[in-house]
Amino acid sequence: PPMTHERNITRLDAFTYRKIIQDDPVMLIPVGAIEQHGPHMPLGVDMMLSTKMAELVAENINALVGPTITTGYKSQQRSGGGNHIIGSFGFDAATVIGICRTFVREFARHGLKRIAFINGHYENYQFIYEGVDLALRDLRGQSIPDVMLLSYWDFVTEEVISGLYPDGFPGWDVEHGGVMETSLMLEYFPDLVHMDRVMDLPAAALPPYDLLPVDPTLTPESGCLSSAKAASAEKGAILADSIVSGITDAIRGRFTM
Ligand code: ZN
Ligand code: MN
Repeated sequence: PPMTHERNITRLDAFTYRKIIQDDPVMLIPVGAIEQHGPHMPLGVDMMLSTKMAELVAENINALVGPTITTGYKSQQRSGGGNHIIGSFGFDAATVIGICRTFVREFARHGLKRIAFINGHYENYQFIYEGVDLALRDLRGQSIPDVMLLSYWDFVTEEVISGLYPDGFPGWDVEHGGVMETSLMLEYFPDLVHMDRVMDLPAAALPPYDLLPVDPTLTPESGCLSSAKAASAEKGAILADSIVSGITDAIRGRFTM
């Protein structure tokens, strides 16, 4: 097959793909969501960021990037504003679990031995975990791949956090549509961010419990849980470096490459 630097398998032909996987590359699977991110960013932020990060990590460790799981678990009020907001579009947990379970089984069938899920949507994590766990149970007695599961924000170092949030860090849950996501989008997809449309409202004051059905008045009118006013491309570059190098080191170390 022709030499290629393409790492996203959705853009590879099957002959090239089959040749590349004979060398046992790591398969990175980005997982995102479709949800509102205020008036200043698109619905696909979580799937775009996880895909972009996976592609950059893939270059560092000679990995492949599998199809992005574009839609995730329902936005929850205390971490994503809530699925009641039109624009957000969530799968039931069983669907997320089933998709992740299928992905692991299918890549195991292809002979892949090392898989890493790169999560970009807070609410997905436990359901990806469950899908992987059930897939490994399905595969018992066959060759079982090693699977890593991570959320990208867990690779932002304490040093970066204190530099970027001089007034105190609000926590990753209320970062929805805030400084981190907006800065990362300014770094990777500046054309899709409209800083003039940011609604500079106080961070959401959410109670330490959930309500079903939700009380819509608890979510700020922007749909964002904290203000993106302090976001910048410079912050985005610092965050992106910290995240991509952190994920690269973790996968390289664990999968001894
Ligand atoms: Zn998001
Ligand atoms: Mn999200």
